[in-house]
Amino acid sequence: MKKIAVIGAGPAGCSAAYHLRAAGVDVDLFDKSQQVGGRTARFDQNECAFDTGAAFFTNFYPLLNELVDRLGLRKDVLELERRVGMRYKDQIAEFAFGDFSTFWGLPFLSTNDKLSMIWNTIKLTIRRPFYDLVDPNKLSQIDERSIADWAREDMTEAVYQYCIRPGVEPFWYFSCEDVSRAMTTVLQANAADAKFYTFKNGMSQISYKLSEGCNLYLNTEVNRIEKSGDTYQLFAKSENKTLELTYDGLIMACTADVSTVLLNESLIDVERLKYVQSQKYVANIHVAYMVDRAAVKDMLAYYYPCGNWETPIAAIVLHKTKSEYSVQAPDGKELISVYLLNKPSLDNSNYDKETLGIKIWEMARAFESALPEKAECISVFNRSHAIPLHEVGRFIQAQSILDKSGHSLQLAGDYLSCATVEGALRSGRWAANQLMGIQSKF
Ligand SMILES: Cc1cc2nc3c(=O)[nH]c(=O)nc-3n(C[C@H](O)[C@H](O)[C@H](O)COP(=O)(O)OP(=O)(O)OC[C@H]3O[C@@H](n4cnc5c(N)ncnc54)[C@H](O)[C@@H]3O)c2cc1C
Repeated sequence: MKKIAVIGAGPAGCSAAYHLRAAGVDVDLFDKSQQVGGRTARFDQNECAFDTGAAFFTNFYPLLNELVDRLGLRKDVLELERRVGMRYKDQIAEFAFGDFSTFWGLPFLSTNDKLSMIWNTIKLTIRRPFYDLVDPNKLSQIDERSIADWAREDMTEAVYQYCIRPGVEPFWYFSCEDVSRAMTTVLQANAADAKFYTFKNGMSQISYKLSEGCNLYLNTEVNRIEKSGDTYQLFAKSENKTLELTYDGLIMACTADVSTVLLNESLIDVERLKYVQSQKYVANIHVAYMVDRAAVKDMLAYYYPCGNWETPIAAIVLHKTKSEYSVQAPDGKELISVYLLNKPSLDNSNYDKETLGIKIWEMARAFESALPEKAECISVFNRSHAIPLHEVGRFIQAQSILDKSGHSLQLAGDYLSCATVEGALRSGRWAANQLMGIQSKF
């Protein structure tokens, strides 16, 4: 392989580019947006800087942690505040990940519920060496039930409503009824000593570092691919220019909806094409606001819903309280992000930004009355393809297509693994290794 194109400079594409370059391959990396990072991109305007999508990584993201050390980024890693306000209607309970006493003090659970959760957590923690949060091979071995069915059968209804749902839905926006239990089982196995981190300049810092040294084409949207003999012809639009370039191999590291448009049976085998075409995503609206810091000085860093009640809110995050040194805001101000669940995101997706700014602050205040009345809307991020939907059986399908090697066109992206930065990075490494014919673990 002399020259490879990687389409998409999110964590998957940047990881693929890095691993190819480390093996001496010449790489062109394309992204339609102005910056690297995809769904980990950073907002940075008018004295405000914060993450628009992915906002943390954990101590159980092995490749990301390995890259942090290899790329000299450890000095930029910041540990995040872990205290959360868990809200059920007008009740709120404080919980801190990894702090047993806050779990034991939760008002929503009976002693029997708590013992059931503890017993299951111990069993899963012992099995930790057999699990992996993002490897489809390992996930496919526990990909047989939804999160809801698993939690209700293996623990209790209250544990499902007050522990499992608030551990999943505020971060991934889908409903626990609709997705495989595989990823959540692994999360529970790692919960007891989970730690959460970010980078000083936000989560896209890892993608920027990984993309160093390749030929980076930003603002460049790939809109057609053709195959002629052993090479690929790639057509892209960059501002007013049309590019036509030739490559020995390709890595498609964009979301599945984009690959569905760009790929066809003359480029890729039917099984992988069908897998790409069948992917579903959930939507997410994220609105960021600026408020007076004094007005929220007694609030926690995070607010998540729990229990079985109707709320559009997935999560509310106070950025400076969470990690003062990874955000920028004018003195005396706090930045607050409000994230909606999938259905309310779809229901509200057609409103203009100004209306969304007003409507969603009203929703946030109806959810959490401690929020002040006055807030300035900073920006709205309205994503129709925010998170791939991990339906039951999807990891089994992913594993079966990943087993097919020897192609000069490879797929990467979190939809082949699980929707995390670690899943994207690992899929990129896998694609690079497959392209180079290197046997490796996922
Ligand atoms: C709101 C939100 C919060 C999240 N929070 C977390 C978190 O805290 N921790 C965590 O681990 N994960 C989190 N995630 C998930 C994480 O962001 C994704 O799993 C990860 O970014 C996926 O990486 P990717 O490279 O597969 O795709 P992406 O990051 O989507 O990158 C794909 C890239 O392809 C580019 N592209 C698309 N079409 C074209 C084209 N035609 N030509 C050129 N380029 C193109 C896009 O511009 C994009 O940059 C979150 C996601 C969202 C949406």
